[in-house]
Parts: sequence; C-alpha cells; structure tokens
Amino acid sequence: METRALVKTMKQGRLQGKRILITAAAQGIGRASALACAQEGATVIATDVNQELLQDLASLWPGIELATLDVCDGNQVIQLASRTEPLDVLFNCAGMVHNGSVLDCSDADWDRSFDLNVKGMHRMIRAFLPGMLARSRVTRSGCIINMASMASSIKGFPNRYAYGASKAAVIGMTKAIAADFVAQGLRCNSLCPGTVDTPSLRGRIASAPDPVEAEKNFIARQPIGRLATVDDITPMVVFLASDESRFITGQNLLVDGGVTI
Ligand code: NAD
Repeated sequence: METRALVKTMKQGRLQGKRILITAAAQGIGRASALACAQEGATVIATDVNQELLQDLASLWPGIELATLDVCDGNQVIQLASRTEPLDVLFNCAGMVHNGSVLDCSDADWDRSFDLNVKGMHRMIRAFLPGMLARSRVTRSGCIINMASMASSIKGFPNRYAYGASKAAVIGMTKAIAADFVAQGLRCNSLCPGTVDTPSLRGRIASAPDPVEAEKNFIARQPIGRLATVDDITPMVVFLASDESRFITGQNLLVDGGVTI
C-alpha cells in the first residue's frame, strides 16, 4: 500500500499541488528553476523585471504564469502579493554582482547591492509571508528559499566586497525567519551555488580585460574542474521546495563544486 502510494506521488511530480513564485525567472538559475518546478507539477508564477525576456518561458511551458516585477519597487511587490493566491513556496532568486573591493565600492554601489540582494528579499517576504503562513498552518509545508552565494559570504574571493556582504546578510535573514516561523509550519533555507554558467556570468567574463583568462580563473576556483550549469543547481531548488526537505530549516545549502572542501 505504502509503495503504491509512493509510485502515485512520483508519477504526479514532486511539487504537485504547490504554488511557487520565483523572482528573476527570466534567465539563469531562476529561469531553469521555473522550468524544473513546472516539470515537477508545481503551479509556477515566474517574475522578472525584464518583461521581454520572460515571455518565451510561457511558450516553453504553457502552464507557467508570468508577472513583471521589480523587487526594488515596494509598490509593485505589494500589488503583486495582493492579487496572488497564497503561495506554498517563495524562491527569492533576484540578485546582482558588484565587482570590486571596498576601495571600488561607492555608497551608491553598496546601497544598490543591498537594495536588490537583501531588501528585495525583505520586501518579498514581508508581502507574501502572511498568505503563506495562513496556508502553511493547514498544509504544514510552506517554504522560502533565498538565493545566497559562496562568493565572499562563505569563502573570501577577490572583488566580491559588497556582493559577499549582501549574501552573508541573506544567510542571516534566512536563519532569523526560520527561527521565527518554524512553529507555524513554515521553513526557510538559503542556497549557495558555486560559479554558474549564466548570462550574467558570461557578461562578467566578456567585460574582463582578458576574457579567456577570466573564464580560466572562474573555472580554477572550482576544484570539480568546471563551471556549474543551471541544471546542477535546480535539483537543490526542487528538493528544498518539496516536502522531501520537510525537516530542514534555517540551513544554508552549498552546491559549490568542491569550493569549500
Ligand atoms: P542572471 O544574473 O544571469 O540574471 C538575473 C535576472 O535577474 C535577470 O533576468 C534580470 O532581469 C533579473 N533582475 C535584475 N534586477 C531585478 C530586479 N530588480 N527585480 C527582479 N528581477 C531582476 O542570473 P543568475 O546568474 O542565475 O543569478 C541569479 C541569482 O543567483 C542571483 O541572486 C545571483 O547572485 C545568484 N548566484 C549566481 C551565481 C552565478 O555564478 N551565476 C552564483 C551564486 C549565486
């Protein structure tokens, strides 16, 4: 009987019946996560500030709902939350890299990094959490996934000053939320990928003084010997979003190609 029930669950998809909203879903890890979650049966609301880039997601997977959303715009966030049915899973993926040391980082650079990488998640969680809590009191399976990073939050890397500080804040925010809401059936975890081959990484490589050398250096910092692909990261997103991770909260999960061995 138990085995039959398991087979039925597997056939239905590991995220069947879950409503998942993802920020920064137009490209890179967010986009691949939207597709991976939809493939596992979730109802996915894919959001991004770049409306044009979002469009072809719906043609790749017709069930995906799209919403243009700038996580730095508090009104947009509140409006989207007010017209969205309560979520089971919120995946805060939006973030940016400021390239440079403290000496390269103006106040405006610092503020921009924290506004997007940290306050963007704060805005999203403040707006969506009440609905999620109401739902997870019944389902006991609400969860928030916050995108952190290895770079200078777990391991020091050159030129990741504001980025590393902001991603370390994401890890702290994650633990605080996990502690505050664990008794209400809501989990919160963060995710730290190593270096992932995405459009923004390609942009960082292309804008380096020597792009060939820059790519070699990005690969060299990963003992596994290559860049991650987005498909190396999405299984962890699906796992964290699913009830398979139901006993995991307040953790920072590393998918780093051996960087921290
Ligand atoms: P990316 O940087 O290539 O794309 C980012 C997406 O974010 C774009 O679609 C862009 O339109 C969107 N975006 C930018 N500003 C936004 C805003 N204000 N509101 C909503 N959306 C906005 O994607 P990526 O490289 O997969 O990075 C995604 C996340 O993963 C980021 O938080 C990043 O810090 C983190 N990360 C990336 C790597 C990597 O090596 N690529 C490693 C570790 C962590």
